[in-house]
Amino acid sequence: MDRLRNDMAEVLFEEEQIQARVRELGAEITRDYEGKDLLVVGILKGAIVFLADLLRSIDLKVKLDFMAVSSYGDAMESSGVVRILKDLEQSLEGKNVLIVEDIVDSGLTLNYLVQNLKSRRPASLKVCTFLDKPERRQVEVQVDYKGFSIPDKFVVGYGLDYAERYRNLPYIGILKPELVK
Ligand code: 5GP
Repeated sequence: MDRLRNDMAEVLFEEEQIQARVRELGAEITRDYEGKDLLVVGILKGAIVFLADLLRSIDLKVKLDFMAVSSYGDAMESSGVVRILKDLEQSLEGKNVLIVEDIVDSGLTLNYLVQNLKSRRPASLKVCTFLDKPERRQVEVQVDYKGFSIPDKFVVGYGLDYAERYRNLPYIGILKPELVK
């Protein structure tokens, strides 16, 4: 990953730090859902790297499903319009559901998801996000588990993209300004 590292102005979280934090989150989730079934809903595509690591740190009988929603496209600002591109394959009725997101920024995407999934009558609904940008919040949203809070900077890596690139970085970084249009 050294070639891609040259594109970074700054690295906020290194791989080891991320892995340690994700293990802590997995242990916390394991304790909180002890004796219960859990349905994890991963939000495509940004959450997949976090999700893959988090899942392996959860010591429970977990089921997995995915949703894809449109948020930013290739741009860096939220449109506020959320569209479901791919819906869940199973009913949520009576289930303990945990939404796994990459990042909560304005909160618009998550707010929409929470409202939408609540209407499907799960037994419980919680939210786990890898990153949180509290300064940018436009709507108040529920966040039950959080990896890290970050300042108002556009970040890439660990599933997060810029124009569909850089999702494969094992760390979280900020791109050099000359690479951002
Ligand atoms: P929100 O609706 O909370 O404003 O935005 C949520 C979505 O915007 C995230 O799921 C993510 O796809 C995208 N997003 C927000 N901030 C960032 C960022 O700093 N970097 C990247 N790559 N995507 C972001």
